Order: sequence, then structure tokens, then C-alpha cells
Amino acid sequence: MTASVNDLITLTPKDSCNTKLVAGPWDFDTVPGYGPGSSQADQLPDPVSRPGQLPERYQLMSDTELDERIVAAKATLGEELVILGHFYQRDEVVKYADFVGDSFQLAKAALSRPKAKTIVFCGVHFMAETADILSESDQTVILPNLAAGCSMADMADESSVETAWEEICETYGVDPEHVVPDAEGKLPILPVTYMNSSAALKAFCGRHGGIVCTSSNAATVLEWAFERAHRVLFFPDQHLGRNTAKAMGVALEQMPMWNPRKALGGNTEEQLREAKVLLWHGFCSVHRRFTVDQITQARAADPQVKIIVHPECPMEVVDAADASGSTDAIQKFIAAASPGDSIGIGTEINMVNRLAAQYPDRSIFCLDPVICPCSTMYRIHPGYLAWVLEELVEGRVNNQISVDPKVSSHAKIALDRMLAAKPKA
Ligand code: SF4
Repeated sequence: MTASVNDLITLTPKDSCNTKLVAGPWDFDTVPGYGPGSSQADQLPDPVSRPGQLPERYQLMSDTELDERIVAAKATLGEELVILGHFYQRDEVVKYADFVGDSFQLAKAALSRPKAKTIVFCGVHFMAETADILSESDQTVILPNLAAGCSMADMADESSVETAWEEICETYGVDPEHVVPDAEGKLPILPVTYMNSSAALKAFCGRHGGIVCTSSNAATVLEWAFERAHRVLFFPDQHLGRNTAKAMGVALEQMPMWNPRKALGGNTEEQLREAKVLLWHGFCSVHRRFTVDQITQARAADPQVKIIVHPECPMEVVDAADASGSTDAIQKFIAAASPGDSIGIGTEINMVNRLAAQYPDRSIFCLDPVICPCSTMYRIHPGYLAWVLEELVEGRVNNQISVDPKVSSHAKIALDRMLAAKPKA
């Protein structure tokens, strides 16, 4: 039997990347940094449920009781409820999901159930925001634990991006509020935000002719952008931007980093004029842990091993791997492998464990020997799921994620462009 990541953390706390993870998530929730108000344009839900305020009775319930309550509440709510679970979500929660996928697939899954009154999103905050934007106006989106943010998304806040945009536009001699095409019919610059960003930044892209991308369709999106603009401001993940643009032939010298704490992002005006892709100074704390050394060691142990990593990993790691791709691409890579193959994966541990359980005839392992789940997604514990579902049965909505309609309307423009940009085969 494959242990869940929760079991693994409990069994081997000394091997975990974060010793706080061994505590119950309600204790972990009290660590400041996430939750309503910390992810830029968050609206405080009504009623407000602060992180760490899961009613105590749910904290004390056994796994069996939580399981029975979730199953019963789900059965009572029937077709009125749809539960979405991200690939990186823990098994104890994902087993209740009606759809499991990456953020791109879950965005589409939310669209496929217009009759469900409530969407419970077992992922992180930006995903629930996106579901709220794309769903029907009479649908309600719930994030079981409001502390489930995304550290990468929080690395690009709206005001820093607005300031960067003004400085960049000034360098190109254009009005930041009214960027128009030049004689060639192209914009001097166009914003592209990764799905892992706040609704406010998606709205920023919608207002400025830009687009949202996922790790599945980033190459298609950059092609779309370069048809319309000479340059791209890509945020918040520098690695996805760099890896994707490099694979398209953009030179590294034409991809300067934008550090929001420095004037001109730490660049000269000439560098900005020569740039093709301005990369925001953001990263994923999980994928940043993968190294070339880990790949070298895996190959030393088994020269036949195949390595696939997520494009949120640093460029050197992507270059050293046999393949890179989104969570969906990683799944397809594993499915296409043969029995007996050995495959090292550079992505979040919950997904790797699930693939290992799904394909027991293949030797599948995580490149990182230290157990490091997405610590924000980890905060969706079955206790929170049981609580929000039982409240729904009683007619009460907790932890609703509701994006301001003014933000939502602009964000939807950028998201609709994303949905039209199909991933490359
Ligand atoms: S894995 Fe990284 S990018 Fe994905 S939700 Fe977690 S912190 Fe954010």
C-alpha cells in the first residue's frame, strides 16, 4: 500500500522540508503569511473564517468519522455540489473529488457543471478565484481553508506590477494606460500572467491586451503574444517564462529579470529595449528544490532511468532532464512508459506518489529525497472539507471566494484568451 503524504510526514518528520508540517494543519495555519487579505485583492468572505479557526470538534474527529461525514454530506448535496481536486492535493482529500486535474483542466471542469450550485475547490486560492470568475453568476465557490494560498502567486502583487508597467512603458515612450500598436502593427509590450496569480493580475492582463497561461499552454500563449507584441512581461514565475521562451529560441540575454525592489527592475534602459521577455522575480518553493545533482545521482544509480520535470523547475534542471512538461504532460509521459521502466520525477510529492500507486509495474520516484509537499495546498485537510460540506447541508456558506465584478470582468477577458490557446500536442 502506498502511504499518503500525511503518513509519510508523520512517519519521517526529520526528512520533511518543513518540520511545522508534522503538526496538525490547524496549528500550521496560524503561521502568518497567507489567508484572506494576504493575497492582494482578496475579499474578506462573509462570514469571515480566519485560518486556524476550524471548529474544534472537527479537529478532534477520527479519520473514520470525517470520512463518514464527508460521504454523507456529499450524498445529501448530490448534483448541487461539485468537488474539484488539484493533482498536488493530498490523497485523503482528492479521493472525494469529482474532477482531479491541473489548474487548466480544473478551470474547464468548473465550466462543465453549470447546474452545480456550489463548487468546492480543493486547491489553492488563485484556483478558486479563477473558478469564481469562470462559473455562472448563481454558482458559489468555496475554498475549504482560506489559508491555502500560493507563495508564488503572492510574489507578484498588483501595485508592484502596476509600477513595473509604468516604468517599462516610460522606457518605451508609450502611455501605460493606452499602449497602442506601432507602424508594424505590434504593441511594444504585452503582459502575460501565469495562472498562479491573483485575479487582480489576471484583470491587469485583460485591461492591457494580455493573456493568462498555464504550464500546459505556455508555448501557445507566448506565440500568441509575439504575434501581437515585440516583448512580453511575464509574471510571476521566472522559470516557466524562461524555460518556455528558451525552448522557442529566445536568447537568454533577451530575457532579463525584473526585480520589483530595484529601479527599472535592476536593468538598464538598453537591456529593456533589447528584451523579448521580461521575467518577474518569482518562483515556486516546491519546484525550486529540484537540482541537477539529484538528476546526476539518479542516473548514477540507474543509467537507464528517465527523468521528467515540471517547467517551474530552474532552467539547468529542465535542461538536464530527458523531458519537461505540465502535470498533464508528466502523466502522459508515465502512461507512455513501459512496464519495468524507471522514472524520476521533478514535481510535487502527492502527484508522484499517486502516479507510483497507479503504475506499480514502473519504478516511479521523486527526485527530491526530502519530502516537500506544496505546504499551502496541504492545508486543505479532510476536517475542513467535512466542515464546509456539513455547513452547506445546513444552508450555510463558509469560506466563499468571491471576486469583485469589476476585477472579474477584466480577468475573464484574459482567461477566455487562455482557454482558446490550446496546449501543443
Ligand atoms: S506547488 Fe508551488 S506554484 Fe503550485 S500552488 Fe504550491 S506553491 Fe503555488
